Amino acid sequence: GSVIFENVGFAYDQRQSALDGISFEIPKGKTVALVGPSGGGKSTILRLLFRFYDVNSGRILIDGQDIRSVKQESLRRNIGVVPQDTVLFNDTIFYNIHYGNINANDEEVHKAAKAAQIHDRIINFPDGYETRVGERGLRLSGGEKQRVAIARTLLKIILLDEATSALDTTTERQIQYALSHMTKDRTTLIIAHRLSTIVNADLILCIKDGKVVEQGTHDELIQKA
Ligand code: ADP
Ligand code: ADP
Repeated sequence: GSVIFENVGFAYDQRQSALDGISFEIPKGKTVALVGPSGGGKSTILRLLFRFYDVNSGRILIDGQDIRSVKQESLRRNIGVVPQDTVLFNDTIFYNIHYGNINANDEEVHKAAKAAQIHDRIINFPDGYETRVGERGLRLSGGEKQRVAIARTLLKIILLDEATSALDTTTERQIQYALSHMTKDRTTLIIAHRLSTIVNADLILCIKDGKVVEQGTHDELIQKA
């Protein structure tokens, strides 16, 4: 989906605002990188999009709709969050992917089956998804957990927070590559990252002190620098 932030202000406490009337637009299906110094507001943007918190001022639109008027469950079905420290249920990978679909109807089961093909590509365990789908989440490595968390979403928007990721650069790149590949033109992918050397983003937003200080394609930003 498309994402619009309109003059969004947010503060965790009275003393200091985390986002200071921030505005930007992300077209549907694009891969966007949020970059900038630690504490700039990248993770806060992702948290507001998923409604962990609500904005103090301004508004956030997804596909033209104010997210405060969208049902929480609909928002959560359509937006996938891949947190820095992925938490999985201590249950099978299958359960972790389908935990939201316990009362699914036929159509949803059909969708989930289709998604499983995507899961197979994303999870991409060396010994295959099929052989490990019954394995318990806690036995997986950090990178594997993250890929399962990505796969359990069937989505319009994926938020990937690598701003303070503990993953090594190679794993991060693999995940970003797998994601931008599978989501091509369909799912909007928003990646918060501490480095500006992010893979093939269509748009880079530089976030500092709760504001967008620069934006453009990689080439445009290099020309300005
Ligand atoms: P980034 O992701 O760019 O590192 P954050 O969005 O985490 O930045 O932080 C933006 C500002 O909000 C910083 O001043 C940070 O200290 C503050 N902040 C972030 N998370 C919290 C929190 N849970 N409670 C209070 N302040 C927070
Ligand atoms: P902090 O401790 O820095 O304030 P949080 O614990 O709120 O941060 O969130 C850490 C990361 O985990 C964030 O990127 C957030 O989006 C994600 N996250 C937090 N709670 C959940 C949850 N219930 N489900 C999925 N992701 C979550």
